Order: sequence, then C-alpha cells, then structure tokens
Amino acid sequence: MKPNFNSFCVLCILIICGISAFQNFTGHKLLGMVPRNPDEVKVLRGFLDDPEMDFWLEPTYELQNVTVHVNGESGKKLESTLQNMGLQFYTITDDLEKWIEREREENYPGSHLQGRTTGFAFDVYHPLDEIVAHLDDVSRKYPNLTKLLNMGDTFEGNIIYLLKISSGGNDTRPAIWIDAGIHSREWIAPATALYMINHLLVNYGNDKYITNLIDSHDWYIMPLVNPDGYLHTWNWNRLWRKNRALAPGFPGVLICRGIDPNRNFDIFFGGPSTSSTPCSSIYKGDHPFSEAESSAIRDGVMALRDRLLAYFSLHSFSQLWMTPHGYTTLKAPDFAEHMELLTVAITAVEAAHGMHYRYGPSAQTLYATSGSASDWVYDVAGVRYSFSVELRDRGVFGFLLPRTEIIPTSEETWAGITSIVSHLQAKEKVKKSSTTSPSTTPLPTTKNTKPENTTDTS
Ligand SMILES: [Zn+2]
Repeated sequence: MKPNFNSFCVLCILIICGISAFQNFTGHKLLGMVPRNPDEVKVLRGFLDDPEMDFWLEPTYELQNVTVHVNGESGKKLESTLQNMGLQFYTITDDLEKWIEREREENYPGSHLQGRTTGFAFDVYHPLDEIVAHLDDVSRKYPNLTKLLNMGDTFEGNIIYLLKISSGGNDTRPAIWIDAGIHSREWIAPATALYMINHLLVNYGNDKYITNLIDSHDWYIMPLVNPDGYLHTWNWNRLWRKNRALAPGFPGVLICRGIDPNRNFDIFFGGPSTSSTPCSSIYKGDHPFSEAESSAIRDGVMALRDRLLAYFSLHSFSQLWMTPHGYTTLKAPDFAEHMELLTVAITAVEAAHGMHYRYGPSAQTLYATSGSASDWVYDVAGVRYSFSVELRDRGVFGFLLPRTEIIPTSEETWAGITSIVSHLQAKEKVKKSSTTSPSTTPLPTTKNTKPENTTDTS
C-alpha cells in the first residue's frame, strides 16, 4: 500500500513547527501495590529502566506503597509478573485521561476562573507565561524589596528566574533558598513557591513575624527551575518529568528528549537511581552540570554559600521531609541536628492541617538518588541545612493534585520552612548571648550559659 503523502506532510509540519496537541492518556492505568519483602522490591525495581513503565512512587522497601502508570503491553507485562509473584495490586484509575481532563477544566486559561483576569490567583495552577508575567509584576510592585534575577537560559530559550527578597543589609544577612519545579509534572511545587513569595511580600510591614523573617534574612526563591518541561506539561504531555534538551551523542533519538536535572549535579553522578538511557525518565545526562537548570542552582547557591543558612527543594509527591544523603544510607555528619530540625518542621507542618508527613534521611525515607541538588548543596557547597520536601499527596491523585489542595499544601509547607528558620534563629541568639564578651555585658554573670546542642559537628 502506498503511503499517504498528504498525511505524511501534515505530520512533518506538526513536528517541525512544534504545533502541539495534548498527548492522550485514554485507557492508561495507574496501578498500586505494596511489596511484601525485599525480593518483591527487587523484581519491581527491575522495571525501573523500562521507558514504558512510569513509576510515580518507586519501589523502595517492603511494605511501602508503589504506584506505576502503565499502558497497553507494558501494563499486561507488569500485571502478569505480579500475578506470577502472587503480589496483589489494585487499579487506582483505569483512565488517566479523565483525571487530566478534569484538571484541564479546572485550571486552563480563558476559563471561568476567578483571579485569572483580575490578578494572580494562588489556588489555581498557572501556565508558564502567566507565572513569568506575575514575577515581573511582583518585581515592579515591590521594587524596594525584590530583585528578579536571570539565572540562565534553557535549551528552549526560556529564562530561569530567581527572586531575591531583601529589606537591606547589603548582602550580609543569612540567606534562605527555596526552589521548586525541577521536575515539571510536579505542579504543586511551583504553586507552593509562588504562594510563599506572595505571603512574604504582602505581609511585610503588616505582620510582625514575617517582617522579622525578612529583616533578618535574605530570601532567594526560584519558583520554576524547569520552565521547558513545565511548558511541555501544559502543551503536550501532562506527565513529563525532565527538561526538554536533546541528549548529546544521541542525535537520532529525537523522540527521547530530556535530561533529569535532579540527577545532573556533580555528586555521585551516575550512581544509584540514575539512567544512561535518554529515553528513561531518570536520564542523568552526558556529564555533571550539562543542563541549564542544575547549573542555575549551582551558580546561585555557590554565590551565596558563605551566608546560605538553609536550602529547600520542593517536589511532589509522597509527603516527606528529607535531609541528605540520597546516595548512601550512611548517616550524614549532621544527622542528629538534621533530625532535630525535621522534628521541628514536621510538628509545624502537622499542626497546620493535621496532615501526616514522614521524615528522615533521603535514602532511608524515599529511595536512593544520585546527582541530586540537595546532596550537592550539602556535600559540595557546604550548606549544612539542606532539605528536599515531597509535598502532597500520598498517592490518591499524585501529580494530578486538585487545585483545592494548593493553599493547604502551601500553608503547611510554609509552616515547616519557617519553623526551621525560626528555630535556627533562636539557636543562633542563644549561641551569641553565650559568647558575648563580659565587657559588653552590663549585668554580672556567674554562670557560663553556653547552650547545649550548638556543637559544630560538620
Ligand atoms: Zn521531583
């Protein structure tokens, strides 16, 4: 049979011009299971490098939830393996497209959404152009408090923005870093970062606590690390995770684009839970810092490293607060203090809306990750308090978290971050008062008030 030349031309034009159409997920399934022992975990992990298997929750340890998105033959293959093992599984949805359509109706521009035309609504997910316009608006509206920095251009020519919020101090104050959206399908992460920017700015001068947070620290927030991938999730494939770069050395593999920027840092590059296959969703890239997104974080953090008090990287989903390391289960040198801070954070997070989060070192809580931002920030940049946070939920909707959960997720995450900053601030105060020289202390002291828990263990 002769190929249809007209259809071929239309296809070529669509590819060349990048005219987008939504990737359809009709009939795609989301399966859930709980491996009962290490052997079952091992069998499931054997599917990790299969580009047809899209793990939303990786197999880690026995009795931990696993969620995987499958379709067609890949689904049948997995289901038959599970049946042979006698491992029960359940279907969370047998039509992911329905979930994506629901989300589209709830969030897409030009809809009935209140706030879309009158301002920037924080209880809705926004496309890239609206986020960029909003950041621009913010920097114009608060010229004395903000500075919008360009941290690099992406493969597709989008800008990676970093918003600095500072009330003065000539760059001598301790700094806090928050980034979000390094994985593009995790929409709740940038939505949460944008909420935090707004919360800081509208409350400065009105709320004593927030005013103090800004007057005592400089805040650096990168709300959307991976704009190319994010754009792709809005225009083509809602479940895209990586950036959109073409893998060097694989020019023929046009269909398998994208590098996972959170496997591209120069820390255990190519170690556990990374892939050298461009089609994999955890493809690490050709060499460390080959990507604009990882380089943007590296450059920003290195410029601040002498005064960077804490680093937070926002992801979804699972409801976890984690500290280094991801590449080893050995305890980090600051393990005890990390656990102390995680306990403080979790208490604040759970007090906000009663939502349960697990916490601990990354490799023991989630799964092994190599070449990740938070490990690099801790090990190489030397920032002692480096956190990565997996936001809501625990697998009910996963990446397709309804917009009604944006505000509560933002509120509880903000509570966690500020509890850590306040806790560190209080410790610093105690430390300073204990080391103040007698000549500047008017009151006579007979006891050394050196606090506990301030030993430098790094
Ligand atoms: Zn992520």
